[in-house]
Amino acid sequence: MKKHQILVIGGGLAGLRAAIEAKERGLDVAVLSLVYPMRSHSVAAQGGINVALGNRRDVGEDNPEKHSFDTVKGSDYLADQDAVETMCQEAPTRTYELNHWGTPFSRMPDGRLDQRPFGGADFPRTCYAADRTGHALMHTLYEQSVKRGILVYNEWAALSLVMADGRCRGAVALDIATGAIEAFAADAVVLGTGGVGRIYSLSTNAHINTGYAMAMAYWAGVPIKDLEFIQFHPTALPGTGILITEGARGEGGYLLNNKNERFMRDYAPTKMELAPRDIVSRSIRTEIDLGRGFEPGVVHLDIRHLGKERIMEVLPGIREICLKFLGFDPADQPIPIVPGQHYTMGGIDTDVWGATPVPGIFAAGECACVSVHGGNRLGGNSLLDTVVFGQRSGQRAADYVLGLEAPPHGQAALQSALKQEQERVAGLLSRDRTHLPAAIREKLGQTMFDQVGIFREPKPLQGALDTIHQLQKEYPGVGVGGKSRRFNLDLLRTLELRGMLDLAEVITLGALARQESRGSHFRRDFPERNDRDWLKHTLVTYSARGPQVSYRPVVVTKWQPQERKY
Ligand SMILES: Cc1cc2nc3c(=O)[nH]c(=O)nc-3n(C[C@H](O)[C@H](O)[C@H](O)COP(=O)(O)OP(=O)(O)OC[C@H]3O[C@@H](n4cnc5c(N)ncnc54)[C@H](O)[C@@H]3O)c2cc1C
Repeated sequence: MKKHQILVIGGGLAGLRAAIEAKERGLDVAVLSLVYPMRSHSVAAQGGINVALGNRRDVGEDNPEKHSFDTVKGSDYLADQDAVETMCQEAPTRTYELNHWGTPFSRMPDGRLDQRPFGGADFPRTCYAADRTGHALMHTLYEQSVKRGILVYNEWAALSLVMADGRCRGAVALDIATGAIEAFAADAVVLGTGGVGRIYSLSTNAHINTGYAMAMAYWAGVPIKDLEFIQFHPTALPGTGILITEGARGEGGYLLNNKNERFMRDYAPTKMELAPRDIVSRSIRTEIDLGRGFEPGVVHLDIRHLGKERIMEVLPGIREICLKFLGFDPADQPIPIVPGQHYTMGGIDTDVWGATPVPGIFAAGECACVSVHGGNRLGGNSLLDTVVFGQRSGQRAADYVLGLEAPPHGQAALQSALKQEQERVAGLLSRDRTHLPAAIREKLGQTMFDQVGIFREPKPLQGALDTIHQLQKEYPGVGVGGKSRRFNLDLLRTLELRGMLDLAEVITLGALARQESRGSHFRRDFPERNDRDWLKHTLVTYSARGPQVSYRPVVVTKWQPQERKY
């Protein structure tokens, strides 16, 4: 049996930052990741990281308080304001740390970090490395983890968290290369496992972002918070879902309908294309539904007026995506776009230290819900979330482990969990299947996209819930076609599907219950926000009788809810 003091599951920005912190505090830390860390979805982040440095003095003054207010307003007042203030105040420290560790940020002529405008922000406060910010940050943190000798279990899939006497004692994981299943004893587990985007059929997320690991926390007893808040990014490519960064609009790109109008004038006259994502996505969907889109159901993002030189300097990745996937240069033609699933605002319930209500389980980054994004995340705040709360969760997990009176013994629980997962996998490999996992997955993705998407109504939501329940009933009849144990991705996808179904149920239950519109959750039958009844977080807890829904008040410190106008 493998053993570490802290097992970090996830090698993206949040997981690596947590591992670095715990290692700095002298603990035996290992990272376990489905993919080599550099292939985590964080590497795909394009536009930048928000931090109130106030470097753009040419346009006014900025400070963490203004950043906090923009974040709270952007969240449609669902974010916990104490958590938002923590994140925005720690942003400069974490960003300078990345800078000193070697991130090649784009700079102003005088050498200070440049900052670009982003959606929902009253000031240009997004630091960036051209349009490959995630790539640059991942290299920085990966280098720092190598420098500290942090052990990484590459291409291992965590299958379950192990509990004994109410504490987490480690995890069971599958070695994808060999098919071996092993138990990992750990005094604490930090989850940095990313979002659940692939539950939806059109998503900007990597294929590994299924949310399975979030479901592991759910099954272990941690409540899942606000999962009905799913962000649709306004500008994804139709068909593939490949993202075109908000930075394209930050740099001055327009959205146009088939009448050649900048239609955002009708929806957000002040902020126009740089209104928050929930508003821009609904506006685009409305234009397309009213017949003002282009074939095949898209609108245009036009950056031609920026000129080739500027595009090559600040949006080189976007140009490359257009050349490779659309066959033209965006300096010559407008880009066809549609809104696509992009971000998971909700997730594993944690406090501002990444601690969950279950001792020994910590979480940070997109899989966690602190909550700093509330009903709608502002672009650039997620990269910030990963490093701020990654650092904090690593610190708190280390404190927790150092404070344990006697090293916990979970041997019996680990052995029994190992046996259970071995039997589960053996069952999938041996039985004759009555249902194809791929068919269930496809049906799930389409149902979520069509019925639990940008606009929501009770009948389609109830229909989606019925479909999910039906698919959950079919799941025990699935089996795996290829029987090999080595790199059996069919097996992995089939295992993940169980978690995707349970989380889809959590999303849909929350959406059906929440009779108001707030942030990304828009109910046509309740189009207004209702602070009297719904200024509260949804918590869904797993139980053998089915999911249990409860609520918790939002933390309001300085900013009383106001109408959100842009
Ligand atoms: C295309 C795109 C562009 C974006 N651009 C920006 C941007 O410009 N600015 C911004 O602020 N945000 C952006 N975001 C959002 C932001 O990048 C992500 O929210 C953030 O990087 C998530 O980091 P993470 O560390 O939480 O998870 P991830 O980077 O997704 O990493 C998850 C890790 O968990 C591991 N894992 C998952 N399940 C398991 C399992 N069962 N067992 C073992 N390991 C597991 C994976 O291997 C991976 O290492 C963007 C997102 C996308 C999709």
